[in-house]
Amino acid sequence: MRVSRLSLVTLRNVPADAEIPSHQLLVRGGYIRRVGPGIYAYLPLMWRVLRKISTIVRDELDRLGALETLLPQLQPAEPWERSGRWQGYTAGEGIMFHLEDRQGRRVGLGPTHEEVVTELAGELLRSYKQLPVTLYQIQTKFRDEIRPRFGLMRSREFIMKDAYSFHCDEADLERTYVQMAAAYARIFQRCGLDAVGVDADSGAIGGAASQEFMVVANAGEDLILSTPDGSYAANQEKAVSIPDSADALPEGEERMLETPGQITIEDLCSANGLSAGQTIKVLVLLARLEDGREQPLLVSLRGDHELNEVKLTNAVTRQLGLSALDIAPITGDQIRQQGLAALAFGSLGPDLEDAALKGARSWEQHFMRLADPSALDLKRFVCGANSADQHRWGATWDSVPDQIRTDIRNARAGERSLHDPEQMLQERRGIEVGHIFQLGDKYSDALDARFTDKEGKQTALLMGCYGIGVSRLAQAAVEQHHDDAGICWPLSIAPFQVIVVVANIQDSTQLALGESLYGSLQAEGVETLLDDRSERAGVKFKDADLIGIPWRIVVGREAEAGRVEVVERSSSSSNSLSHQDALSCVLKAVSPGS
Ligand code: ATP
Ligand code: MG
Repeated sequence: MRVSRLSLVTLRNVPADAEIPSHQLLVRGGYIRRVGPGIYAYLPLMWRVLRKISTIVRDELDRLGALETLLPQLQPAEPWERSGRWQGYTAGEGIMFHLEDRQGRRVGLGPTHEEVVTELAGELLRSYKQLPVTLYQIQTKFRDEIRPRFGLMRSREFIMKDAYSFHCDEADLERTYVQMAAAYARIFQRCGLDAVGVDADSGAIGGAASQEFMVVANAGEDLILSTPDGSYAANQEKAVSIPDSADALPEGEERMLETPGQITIEDLCSANGLSAGQTIKVLVLLARLEDGREQPLLVSLRGDHELNEVKLTNAVTRQLGLSALDIAPITGDQIRQQGLAALAFGSLGPDLEDAALKGARSWEQHFMRLADPSALDLKRFVCGANSADQHRWGATWDSVPDQIRTDIRNARAGERSLHDPEQMLQERRGIEVGHIFQLGDKYSDALDARFTDKEGKQTALLMGCYGIGVSRLAQAAVEQHHDDAGICWPLSIAPFQVIVVVANIQDSTQLALGESLYGSLQAEGVETLLDDRSERAGVKFKDADLIGIPWRIVVGREAEAGRVEVVERSSSSSNSLSHQDALSCVLKAVSPGS
């Protein structure tokens, strides 16, 4: 392809809305253009990258015997209602774009395809003899993300590979799950990515296995905690650890502390010579439940710990046997709207009485009380006294209503690993590029997708689901492979393998040699760009660095002598070679297996 025919528009300046390098470089390099918030056009160079990634994904899934298919993006509400997800996905902070058609029927744009594929499987897979089956597709997904950002990393329309497997028993499901994990590792490796598999949250229902694949990068939105030897790695959403032990409070009678204006744990500690681990932090939150109830929560943590909202959501869901759709801190305004007396925020204690909720307009009138084990393990502590500017010093759990004891804190770097207390957890940031999940019969049971098992019984299909964010992966590759001058694509997913830059197209010798190299490379099946634009050489070199083609052949002043320069983008190493040697050097570098 000739660069002059590519409609290539590169930008020298960093686009104002692009915060991270990969987003900046893809826009500057003419790969993507923003069409609306979280909506991007993939320009021709980008589309070639996305097709290459898709080809690698297809290749690895086809090897497992998975069947490619294409499911509708426009999905009727009914199966989503049967699975119980319509409400959660469309109301409040739900991420499904949804609409009514001209007959007034409700439809949604697919954010994911469990419902559609499970209904189909129920119709197609009738006997154990047909199992196992894995279906997959590579397709545009729609999610009305609350905070779309970072370009293709979190967009509202993006390309996903999603796969769904169907099994007659657990062992078979696990077999496919393990094979899929290995296929994922090969996919990321073939795409030139340094990715790690980590334990991931699998929600409260099912409790089955789930793993995420993270590309390690500072711009990542997820936090990975792992042991130095890599034997344990988990998303912070799910990670566990042994907390540092807290300093015991000195002996002494329980007493009141006057704590004027000491709202934060930090203020409280510095004013009273305490360490945060000697205090209890009490949070009031509201859980919106799937049956419409609004359940206030009173949550106690050790003062030096942070709440983990995913663990909390799972704990509430487990406790009640129905989903908590979202959980958010209760505000002073909400308290007033419920017609309740103000709470002493900043001085709350775990013994806050249910009377505080009496007469609430729409909330349940009692707290669900949860405490992290590390908080419950404190014998004596300092906590709020439930009246402004007062705390209790030396309080104990004896005077506090019963708590649900459950892990709801964030594990963090520097704590000992639960799996090997000799090792300290370390943290890194990661970009989630893939997620595999054992779903069990969650969807098949709800959607009545059953098969006849060996004993002739009607049994719900067991399912796994497996996603890869194809467009996110492409950008993650840039996040891992770039320098100050631009992108350094891994060869396997680069839009082109080689770019031939003719320094001065007015020079007929240069142009002829450039054309001849271009022709030879194409004849060998090498994906080649020819920069035949009448731009200055410096502009063309800058562009070549920016768009990140792995190999560059510069045809310049030495063309007269039949010599050219071969530059490797990633190392910037350059060699002056005869044009024949240049050709064989590049052919060798781009040929598979070299
Ligand atoms: P996240 O936690 O980042 O929101 P998710 O857990 O909701 O992602 P899944 O439902 O597991 O995502 O989707 C499978 C894959 O699709 C993810 O691993 C990710 O790579 C990709 N993906 C999810 N949401 C987006 C998005 N808004 N933009 C681009 N890719 C996405
Ligand atoms: Mg996920």
